[in-house]
This record gives sequence, structure tokens and C-alpha cells, in this order.
Amino acid sequence: MNPLPTLFVSHGAPTFALEPGRAGALLGALGRALPRPEAVLVVSPHWTTEGVRVATTAAPATVHDFGGFDPALRRMAYRAPGHPALARATLEALAAAGVPAEADAGRGLDHGAWVPLTHLYPDADVPVFQVSMPARLDARGALALGAALAPLRALGVLVVGSGSLTHNLYEVSWREPVPARYAIEFVDWVRARVATGDREALARTFEDAPHALRAHPTAEHYLPLPIAVGAAGGAGPVTVLDGGIEHGVLSMESYVLGASIELEAGAPA
Ligand code: ZN
Repeated sequence: MNPLPTLFVSHGAPTFALEPGRAGALLGALGRALPRPEAVLVVSPHWTTEGVRVATTAAPATVHDFGGFDPALRRMAYRAPGHPALARATLEALAAAGVPAEADAGRGLDHGAWVPLTHLYPDADVPVFQVSMPARLDARGALALGAALAPLRALGVLVVGSGSLTHNLYEVSWREPVPARYAIEFVDWVRARVATGDREALARTFEDAPHALRAHPTAEHYLPLPIAVGAAGGAGPVTVLDGGIEHGVLSMESYVLGASIELEAGAPA
């Protein structure tokens, strides 16, 4: 089996589950275009732990780790099975890379995992398991954590870093304003470096990118990107899913790393 590409997905607000918009349509088209994985491995900032943990849960629950949104969101369930065997293979790959990790047999799926998966694999028929994000991770450490997950790709695991390409919740507006100029400039800077596989630049985003601290007052929603880049290995083709900017400041941009994917006609260009 050829190693699968990896994904970085912007998961936006929890309301993304109910309002797919352009980004949801693009993820749906991507799910239909990708080779079918044996399992999806998601790293999300909504499961952060002291060390690294890997969910070996056989039937993960849908975790509603948010409040104050439409009650319909709390009733949603994403019923994909887990994949304990590939979760154990992940523990072995991490150990081989010198990253100590522990199994967690009870962990469910946080909204950073299940919300985008409702669009990527709406039938919930691809097994899913999560790897936690360790506390005190930085961008360079995120690249290394991703590299430790790279061997899973040859086993048919789709490694997904789920975050948000911009994530300043202090500036979110629910009245759909025009996208903020600073968010556009930050996204353009990152996209150019993702496209060329410039891992050194992506390790220095907080030092070098325009408006980085405004786009990410805290780093946790950026770090899934260098995790996905690290898991993809060296430079290769990149597919940009331009989901636009929601609520004025939340980029919905996603990337396929290591493959050029033709999305079906009808998907937004
Ligand atoms: Zn989030």
C-alpha cells in the first residue's frame, strides 16, 4: 500500500457541524476522492494531556466539549468505531521514535475530531482514534511528533491534525463581517510555506509570520499544522482547500500534504 497523505483541517467553531458551507463541501469532496483509509488518527487541541496518550477505545463516545451553542449540536453523535489494533501500532511507532505514550481505553472523540469528520466521512464508516496533544508543545516539537506518526501512513492510517489556521476567539463576530485583513495576510504567509514544504519556516511561524500573535493568541490551534506537516515527511505535492474565513477572523483553510487531489466537479474551486 502506498503511504497515505496527511491532512491539516481547520475545524472552526462547533457550529461547523450544522453549517458546512464551502469548507464542509470541500471536505466532503475530499473524503470521496481520497483512497479509503483503514483508520483516521486525529490530533486535536481539545485533548491536551501531560504526556502523549493514544485512545484505544473500541467504540468512542461523541464528546460535546463546548457550551452555549444550538442545542441540536449537543444531540449530534458521530458513531464511527475506534481501531484498537492501529492505536496500539501507534503506541509502538511513538515508542520507536523515543516518544513515551500511554493507552487510554475510555477516551471519546472531542469536537475537534468529530465535527470535521461529519463532513469528511459523513457515514461514520471509517474507524477513528485520537492521539492527544502534549502540554507545552511548540512548533518544532509538533513537527517531531508528526514525524513519529509518519510510519502509520504505510499501514493505511490517515493522520489528521485538526486545528484552525487562524484562531482569535476574542475577535469572532457572529454577524458575518468581511474577513479581517490581518487574518488574510497570515493565511497567505502560511500557505506559501506549506506549498513549498518549508518546515523550518513553519517552525518559526510565531517569530516570523505577520500578525502571528494576533492570529493565534495561544498556539494550540496552530500546532496541528506542523504535526500534519511532520507526518507527511519531505516536500511533496500539496492540495489547498480554501474554505475562506468565517466570522471575520476564523480561517477554514485545510491542506492535503503529500498528494495532489482532484476534487470532483461541483465542489467549490
Ligand atoms: Zn477548536
